[in-house]
Amino acid sequence: MVSNRMKTSLENAISIRDIFEEGKKMAAIYGKENIFNFSIGNPSVAPPAAVNEAMKEVLDTEDALTLHGYPANVGHPDVRTRVAEYLNKSYDTSYTMDNIIMTSGAASAIAILCNTFLDYGDEVITFAPYFWEYKSYVESFYGKLVPALCDQKTLQPDPATFEAAFSEKTKFVLINTPNNPTGAVYTEESIQKVARILEQKEKEYGHPIYLISDEPYRNLAYGGVKVPYLPHFYHNTIVVYSYSKTLSIPGERIGYIAMESTVDGFEEIFATATASIRYLGYVNAPSLQQKILLKCVDASVDISIYEKTRDVLYEGLTGMGYECIHPDGAFYLFMKALEEDDARFCAEAKKERIIMAPGSAFYGPGWVRISYCVPFEVAKASLPGFAHLKERYEAIPADL
Ligand code: PLP
Repeated sequence: MVSNRMKTSLENAISIRDIFEEGKKMAAIYGKENIFNFSIGNPSVAPPAAVNEAMKEVLDTEDALTLHGYPANVGHPDVRTRVAEYLNKSYDTSYTMDNIIMTSGAASAIAILCNTFLDYGDEVITFAPYFWEYKSYVESFYGKLVPALCDQKTLQPDPATFEAAFSEKTKFVLINTPNNPTGAVYTEESIQKVARILEQKEKEYGHPIYLISDEPYRNLAYGGVKVPYLPHFYHNTIVVYSYSKTLSIPGERIGYIAMESTVDGFEEIFATATASIRYLGYVNAPSLQQKILLKCVDASVDISIYEKTRDVLYEGLTGMGYECIHPDGAFYLFMKALEEDDARFCAEAKKERIIMAPGSAFYGPGWVRISYCVPFEVAKASLPGFAHLKERYEAIPADL
């Protein structure tokens, strides 16, 4: 028999992947061009040419046994050095390879850090709405995820709910900007407030409280919007990064943990995180994918394509009177549902062949998430359906 823990967790989950699969079935019935599937965050912009070139070059030039053998659990030294150099150049930091752990994407990095920090019943605060998997990661290590609801007008962290979320048991705060599901980039002002509260709480409870910054969308910010680099604002910050979105290679599973030596308990955390890689069965991040970073650590997909799609949707939807927050980053748009029940609103949208994820799946009831990592033409062609949906709500609300 499966564990009761998993059974209960699965019974309560809203599966975005199931919603996506349903969209695929609808595409098979009605034709791909007639379905507007905004359910999932799979990159839609091709990886930069540098990725394929780097793969070929690595295969041709690296010693095969070293390339395909087990590297150290924390990753190849030359790759960790390359990542550290890139970060120092970009953010004026002072990392060396000894501050970097290569991981199988951000997901495993978060799991590794949960295993590193959490004892039974420990608490992790995150700003809600949040990436639904956070709850799975934290609960898998017997922790409790405590949501701190963002300001409902701006979707920025709300100092009041954040402060109220702390307890003796708070081990770390998990923050994600640019944000999935809202597309919000947390402003410097918001981050400063978060950092001041963290400092106060460290003093009040007399032990370190870490800020884990999950940043798979750090390089996806539009219109010149700057994403603050969190270690500049709070001393006990640990960065989690992933190349899944920047290089459009989510299936390849590559990312890292970066931690300044000045983080409280640095050596013990680094050693425990290294052991956690083994304990959790990751062993090491994929060797070939690590090596391609030697050649393309600073490459990026063409983000202007996402920006153009965001613009057509944001302008189109707000022009019709939908309430959306302006998404400055990632590839998600958070929109107010036209009724309280966001799941029912999504069901109504499906009649227009528009597939979205209900905000409730992200602790954001009353909203819906539109993943606009779809071709620009698909986003544009969905607008008449959104207009018709709104007309239906305005015309016959009693029928809905
Ligand atoms: N964190 C957030 C906020 C995400 O949106 C995702 C993936 O969509 C992840 C982590 C996991 O990313 P990765 O592919 O690097 O494991």
